[in-house]
Amino acid sequence: MSGTEKSKNGSQHRVMLPGHTTIGILGGGQLGRMLTLAGTAMGYRFITLDPAKDAPCGQVARQIEAGYADEGAALELARQCDVITYEFENVDAGVAALLERESYVPQGSSLLYTTQHRLREKRAIEAAGVRVAPYREITSADTMQAAVGELGVPCVLKTVTGGYDGKGQRVIRDAAQALKAYEELAATGAELVLEQFIKFDCEISVVVARSTAGEIKTFPPAENIHVNNILHASIVPARVPADIQLEAQKLAAAVAESMEAVGLLAVEMFVAADGRLYVNELAPRPHNSGHYTMEACATSQFEQHIRAICGLPLGDTTLLSPVVMVNVLGEHLEPVIERTGAPDGDAIELGVIPKLHIYGKTEAKTGRKMGHVNLLCHDVEEGLQWIEQTTIWRNTNS
Ligand code: ATP
Ligand code: MG
Repeated sequence: MSGTEKSKNGSQHRVMLPGHTTIGILGGGQLGRMLTLAGTAMGYRFITLDPAKDAPCGQVARQIEAGYADEGAALELARQCDVITYEFENVDAGVAALLERESYVPQGSSLLYTTQHRLREKRAIEAAGVRVAPYREITSADTMQAAVGELGVPCVLKTVTGGYDGKGQRVIRDAAQALKAYEELAATGAELVLEQFIKFDCEISVVVARSTAGEIKTFPPAENIHVNNILHASIVPARVPADIQLEAQKLAAAVAESMEAVGLLAVEMFVAADGRLYVNELAPRPHNSGHYTMEACATSQFEQHIRAICGLPLGDTTLLSPVVMVNVLGEHLEPVIERTGAPDGDAIELGVIPKLHIYGKTEAKTGRKMGHVNLLCHDVEEGLQWIEQTTIWRNTNS
């Protein structure tokens, strides 16, 4: 593509070189912080927009302190930056349109529009020729009853917008529970979708990057363990057969290509007992399940995102070492810090190298993501054993 030629989603290919380029990030949480740390090492400057004083990203970048839907602040960000990205998907539509008009947003807004809405997202995944769990749009108590009959139980009712960490979902194990679940979620005012419950062997995710030049690279699939609907650990290589891993990478690339995504796209999937893959959700941003790449891959997901949006060649995604990433929630923070303040006999014995990342959040609330540890190991079972032996995550281990 030449200088300013536009692709289907309106994005353009421009090469944004370090030294001359300030990158604006909508959102100032840990994802923005890690993007900034990676991009700063590459010579880029960063400004974040976030309402929270002293946001994790604001500690390492300049910060405009304002709400995400504040159009005046968004305009200020557009004026001060050469290229704009975001670290969360629920970007206000008005702000997205304004930024596209006033600045350079290589990711465009069509991917946001699609991934902000589960039904649109499922249709886009299907359009890429990729399987999702059978689903029905739910618009009334009657369509709900009919859909439960068609899809069978168990099934899961979800709000189409605004859900995260399992919020806005009801699992229906018995047709008698259907109406109550419908009434509860319909009361939120959100549109609803009913999905067949996939009896999966495990959950995996693939982070794929597509650059403004159309180059695509996938990271190795991560096997994800959730506890209380929050990601607890990611295991790489995933403990699934090599052909399924390859298939997972291929279909993530197919989705990114079909949607003409720019930047990172995290593709969450279920691996069913028969080896079939079902895509559950997409996230058009760095993903918690991709944090393992920071030390375990030749290029981290954060560097890759910067490369993709700045029109640089994508980095090598080779896995350098088996790794287990474990999240550090508020309740784990103190013991983790204590543990890493002294020589770690267990780690030495197991041959595990723990690499600690803490996000700089001032308040350590229970269940709040405060950081993560990447455990570089010879075999993922040793990393898992280290987690067990520390007992720090014992009450959350599944
Ligand atoms: P997050 O944004 O934190 O990933 P979310 O609230 O958007 O979560 P989902 O990813 O849709 O929600 O679902 C959360 C979890 O619930 C999944 O990781 C999976 O374990 C389970 N789940 C969701 N849908 C299904 C399904 N159709 N079949 C089986 N399990 C499901
Ligand atoms: Mg999910």
